[in-house]
Order: sequence, then C-alpha cells, then structure tokens
Amino acid sequence: MPLPKIELALALAFLALHVLVVALFPQNDMTLSYPFMIAAPLLATLVMLRRCLLDGFALHKGWVLVAASMLLWTLGMAMSAASELVLDSHNLTPGAIMLVYIQYGVPITYAASGANEERQSKVVRVIDAAMAMALGYLFYVYVFSLTTLQGAADTDHARQVVWMFDLENLFLAFCCVLRYLAAKGHREGRLFGVLAIYTVAYLFAALYFNHVLALEASRIGGYRTLWVIEVPFLLLAALGWRCVIPPLVRRPRLVRIIHSGSPLMLALAVLLIALFLLRNHFYLGVGGVVVALVGYGLRSTLTQARHIASEDALRHDRAALESMAWEDGLTGALNRRGFDNALQREYARALRTGQPLSLLMVDIDYFKRINDRYGHLVGDRCLQALAAELHKLRRRSTDLLARYGGEEFALLLPDTDLDGATTVAMQVRETVRGLAIVNADSPFSIVTASVGLAVSAISGDQIATDLVARADEALYEAKHSGRDRIAYAPPFEPAPDAPA
Ligand code: GH3
Ligand code: MG
Ligand code: MG
Repeated sequence: MPLPKIELALALAFLALHVLVVALFPQNDMTLSYPFMIAAPLLATLVMLRRCLLDGFALHKGWVLVAASMLLWTLGMAMSAASELVLDSHNLTPGAIMLVYIQYGVPITYAASGANEERQSKVVRVIDAAMAMALGYLFYVYVFSLTTLQGAADTDHARQVVWMFDLENLFLAFCCVLRYLAAKGHREGRLFGVLAIYTVAYLFAALYFNHVLALEASRIGGYRTLWVIEVPFLLLAALGWRCVIPPLVRRPRLVRIIHSGSPLMLALAVLLIALFLLRNHFYLGVGGVVVALVGYGLRSTLTQARHIASEDALRHDRAALESMAWEDGLTGALNRRGFDNALQREYARALRTGQPLSLLMVDIDYFKRINDRYGHLVGDRCLQALAAELHKLRRRSTDLLARYGGEEFALLLPDTDLDGATTVAMQVRETVRGLAIVNADSPFSIVTASVGLAVSAISGDQIATDLVARADEALYEAKHSGRDRIAYAPPFEPAPDAPA
C-alpha cells in the first residue's frame, strides 16, 4: 500500500502544533486544546464530503454516513467547549453532550450493517432506518438514565457512561474490521479499509481520553496529552484524502458469510443497548429486544424472498439461454449445433437397437431469386412458413427438424425405414408446393423444394456424418435432375423417381 506521505506529514504537523501550543501555555491546556479538538473531526468531515463529491453521492452513501458521524463528534466537542468556556461548567459529562457523542456511532453502525447499500429493497431500507432510529432513542434513554443536562451526579455514573462508550467503540471497530475483511471490490475495500483503521485507532484513543484524561486529569496533572484524541480523525482525513487502501484478497466463502451477516450488526447494537436498559427501564428494554428481533427477522424474510425471486428469474433465464443455444432464432427449428448433437445421439441409438435411421435433406429451389426479387424479409417469412409446415410433418415425438444451413432443412427420422422416409419426403414436397408461395423467377412459378433421402446402413463401419454426406449427395442429384423432386442416396437401389 503506497503511504499517503504528504497527508500523514500534514497530520503530524497538526499534532506538533497542538503539542507546542500546550507546552508554551500549560496553564491553559484545556482551553487551547479545544480549537484543535474541534478542527480535527471537522477536517475529517470535510475530507469525507470531498470523497462523496469525487466519487458521486449516489454511489458512496457510506462516506456520507461517516461524514455525519464526524459532524456529530465535531458538534459534541464544540458543545463541550461552549459548556466549559462560556458557561464555565467543569462537569465533563452534561447529558446533551454525552448524547451527541454516543449518537456518533449510529451512522457508522448503519453503514457497516450495509443498510445504505443500493441492492436493498425500499422496505428493507425502511426497516433498517427504523432500527437505526430505535438505536438512537435507546442511547438517548440510556445516557439520561445516568446523567442530567448538568452532568453525571458522581464518578460512578460518569464511569458507566464511559463504559458504554468503550463498548460502542469496540463494537464499531469489530464491525468495520469485519466489513473490510469481506469487502467486495474496490469501492467497499476503500471505505471499510479506511474505517477499520480509523475505528481501531479511535477505540484506543478514546480509551485513553476517557479513562485516563477525562476521569483522572486532576491526578495526572492536566490535559497536556489531549492531542491523542485527534490522532484517529487525522488518520481518517489523511487516508480518506487519496484513499489508497486496497481490498484484501480473501476466501469467497468468508466474504459471503460476512456479507450475509452484516445486517445483523444493526440489530445486535439495538439488542445490546436494550439489554443494558432492562434493569432500569424494563419495558423499554423489552421493547428494544422486540424491535431488534422483529426488525431483523422481517428484513431477513424480505431479503430471502428477494433471493428466491432472483433465483427463479435466473433459472428462467438459464432455460431460455439453453434453448437459444440449440434453437435457430428465425424458424424455431433446431440449429446446426442441435442437429449435430441429435444426429450423434440417434445414430448411436440406431446402432444399438439395429433400427433404421432416415435423414431427409430439404433445400428450397431457386431461393436466391426470392431474395433478389422480393427482398430478404420476404425470404425470411418464406423460411418461417416452410419450417412451420415441416414441423407439422413430424409423426413421432422422436422425429427432429433442424435448419441445417441457410435455406436447407434436415428431417431426422429415427426408427424409420426407406418406405416410411419416402412417405415423409413425398409429404414434404407436396406440403411445400401446397403453400403456393409465389416465386415468379422460378420455372415452377411457386416455391418448391428438392429432397435428398438417406437411410443408415446399420454397420459399425459407418459414422454419423456419412449419413449426412449421402443425403447431401442425393440432394445434389435431385437438384441436377431438375429440382422439385426426391432423390435417394446410394448404396440403395434408386427408387423410381417421384412424380415431378
Ligand atoms: P438452388 O435451387 O440451387 O438451391 O438455388 P438457391 O437459389 O436456392 O440456392 P443458393 O445456395 O444459390 O442460394 C441460397 C440463398 O439463401 C442465398 C442466401 O442469400 C439465402 N439465404 C440464406 N440464409 C437466409 C436467411 O436466413 N434469410 C434469407 N432471406 N435468405 C437466406
Ligand atoms: Mg436452394
Ligand atoms: Mg442451399
């Protein structure tokens, strides 16, 4: 991974400036740190918004959600500054501010659960949005069950808020790392790669910030190391600026499992906070558990239904594609590939059973003249009409009609001897004539066909294509002896010419 050196150097310069300012004015460490602590998440917000602009809002809703989280953190820090500098309050845990900080995790959880992704149906998105709102509400109740607008009553309550932060940060890091491990393609790889690094860095920075600085500042003698909390935001801004994190190469099975499981993250977050609430707000806690279970169950059912529908559509498409692979598009008869396949199969069967296999090659006479005089479309319609009629001549379900070439059809008749095949050949000739399609440039004035007939000699010496070659030879003979007739392939004694 090429390191974004300039961006990281700028981030270091930012931190160095903060350290320097606090070193110069140690008595104002907290006050002077606020501009830095507000600027860092604000910078991250702007970089996330820039990412959206560069990559397109519609495609990158994940970045918008991260920007929303960053904005919440910026707001929280600005409120902390106002509370301390303007209202001169030294309680670090006023409820409203704690609420903003804790809500910061909601948009990231929403992004990690894949709730913002395009492929979700509208109803599923509504369910996810409802769960995200429930999560926000439960956080609100939880925070205010431990604090008031003025702040936590004692350190014990403040500690409980901090533990909730820890749990939330651990959860976010876990979700984002998982999503990075299972990222599908560059788009997800970049988003969750950056987020994974950020959330892990934030987890540790927040541990230090909350447990060491916020709770123990008086003991360790001031706020000189407040810059630690800026590290994750600066990392996010630096890595998000050029977004160089590549997706990992992973096992497809793992990717599938994590992807299918990621919607569970949002439900799990609701469930966890609901369980925490059970002790003090029993009914609300139960409500939260129900929302998590029903919400996840409902969205799973809907997603499953969607999968089944798309599987059905795929199966249908595959069947259509398969038939296209064997069918001639113009006439609906078997195509050349289908014919070759059927010929091999039927020939082998004929050898096995000792039954005769007959082949009729049917070629339209003077067809080129139809094209030349009436145009290709009329020629096409003539081919379609002819194929439809030849189709009807198949007497058994095993008889096959194929379009062998341009205006040449093949009728493959299993278990049919010379007599049976002759009857069909005569019907072919008569049927084509019976259509009475005008061909003014033919000596017959109407469309006619010549038929070459061959019956397989059931001996191991012959191969399937010999049957085609012999039927073709017979067809050639029919053409040469005047067209609109049937000719028989050697080695059979030529039957008396069918009436011309
Ligand atoms: P013959 O009596 O010797 O069979 O003469 P013919 O004109 O039927 O035979 P020839 O092989 O000279 O011409 C076949 C023509 O069939 C040439 C080609 O343009 C036309 N053809 C082949 N496929 C199609 C098709 O799909 N649609 C149309 N309209 N014409 C086709
Ligand atoms: Mg022809
Ligand atoms: Mg031809």
